[in-house]
Amino acid sequence: MTGINETAKLLSQKFKDEGFTGTVSVDAPLAPLTWYKIGGSAAILVEAHSVTDLALAKKLIDDNPMPLLVMGAGSNILVSDEGFPGLVLRLGGIFASIDVDENETRIRVGAAVPLLTLIRESVRIGLDGIERLAGIPGSVGGAIFMNAGTYGDGIGGLIETVDVFTATGELETWDPLECGFEYRSSRFQMTDDIILFAVITGQRVEPEKLNTEIERRLDKRKKTQPIELPSCGCVFKNPDGDKSAARLMQDAGLKGERAGDAVISSKHTNFIVNEGAATAKDIINLMAKARKRVYALTGIKLTPEVRAVGFKEPLEVMLDAWKED
Ligand SMILES: Cc1cc2nc3c(=O)[nH]c(=O)nc-3n(C[C@H](O)[C@H](O)[C@H](O)COP(=O)(O)OP(=O)(O)OC[C@H]3O[C@@H](n4cnc5c(N)ncnc54)[C@H](O)[C@@H]3O)c2cc1C
Repeated sequence: MTGINETAKLLSQKFKDEGFTGTVSVDAPLAPLTWYKIGGSAAILVEAHSVTDLALAKKLIDDNPMPLLVMGAGSNILVSDEGFPGLVLRLGGIFASIDVDENETRIRVGAAVPLLTLIRESVRIGLDGIERLAGIPGSVGGAIFMNAGTYGDGIGGLIETVDVFTATGELETWDPLECGFEYRSSRFQMTDDIILFAVITGQRVEPEKLNTEIERRLDKRKKTQPIELPSCGCVFKNPDGDKSAARLMQDAGLKGERAGDAVISSKHTNFIVNEGAATAKDIINLMAKARKRVYALTGIKLTPEVRAVGFKEPLEVMLDAWKED
């Protein structure tokens, strides 16, 4: 990454000289910013605090082309052991704000806001729907990008509008149809548009009802998911049909399978946990092994849910190319 590191240093100075109000660092370790605690460094890491900051970041990247990664809370990404050879953009400042309308039926929330904060606000005003996201780590931006949720549900079903900084530098407001929400997917996965804010809506209910539902969901997660260890949640999406990815992996005898410090959890077979010093390569080796075994047994090719970043090849290509030692 020598060439890119030199460019990153120059770019970092330009950010400062041109009045960027957020933070800028070069050769910035990404592992501590991810739930997996895995991965190398970003050539340059910036946190934008305003739309003016975003416009400046866009201008500087246009002038010094390099890969761009928008990062939320890092709970669904696997960063390459070599790191990310470009600019990693996080959001803060105004994008971490949360406001309730005067009727208390809508919440305007910034992409950098943790889902937990949004859930707490929805309980405070008694707005239903958002409690279904309880226990999902991550930010509002990451949740919209992934259409995060449980089972068939997704955050997309609660959204009225999303404010976007488009890949061409325009500010636009999109309705849910334009966001293309599908199971653990959205249009954002096909573009370089940046999610800035969302307006979330629901029905008024008693806060106590929401609290009970949240406790039920958190309790269920504690019992069924290895939340005490670093992971990215489910590594694969559930395929069509009546068997979940976890069930297919369990039937293929994958529980407890290990590569280095990466282990297929015996509590939830679709979770690959990091027991200490797992590398991105270990996680990919296990995913590939699991996918190959499930395919051999059922003819079903599991689709990754985790987003792999900083690798030379797309995750699907790496999984297909894998061969057992
Ligand atoms: C213990 C555990 C349990 C989990 N349970 C669930 C679950 O039940 N359901 C579920 O759906 N997920 C679950 N997840 C996965 C994860 O929490 C969600 O996918 C979450 O929505 C990711 O949000 P994030 O902010 O961490 O995004 P990140 O991991 O930071 O990023 C994910 C993707 O979103 C993009 N992105 C992030 N912010 C923006 C933005 N502002 N604009 C454009 N793109 C952006 C990134 O580029 C990346 O491609 C779980 C994860 C863990 C660790």
